[in-house]
Amino acid sequence: MAYDDSNIFARILRGEIPCRKVFEDEHVLAFDDIRPLAPTHVLVIPKGHYTSAQDFAEAASEAEIVAFVRAIGRIARERGIDASGHRLLANHGADGRQEVPHFHVHLVGGRDLGRMLP
Ligand code: 5GP
Repeated sequence: MAYDDSNIFARILRGEIPCRKVFEDEHVLAFDDIRPLAPTHVLVIPKGHYTSAQDFAEAASEAEIVAFVRAIGRIARERGIDASGHRLLANHGADGRQEVPHFHVHLVGGRDLGRMLP
């Protein structure tokens, strides 16, 4: 799917819209979700323009992928939700109800999240 750089996360990356930054490096930006579902609800996004996890896995460099995965672990540790547990979620497309077409992972924790699947 073609990347549309008018999406809200592209605008956050360009500094056009503010965010509550949690982590940033060369390849990754992470910030608090504006509508948190739990005490910790961080959105982790690659700085590159990828719409989905599939795009990211196929087109990103190994350095980008490693930085992305490591950032998630680092934020979980810093937020104290490594030992207690947390959930990683990536919505994709219409059925996944993806709202923002820039690949992102939700890192959610800080309470018992219940079962997601029966
Ligand atoms: P999706 O359904 O695409 O996986 O989730 C997009 C997430 O982005 C939602 O949880 C929504 O609350 C969050 N979001 C939407 N607009 C903004 C915004 O302007 N700032 C921040 N920080 N989060 C946003």
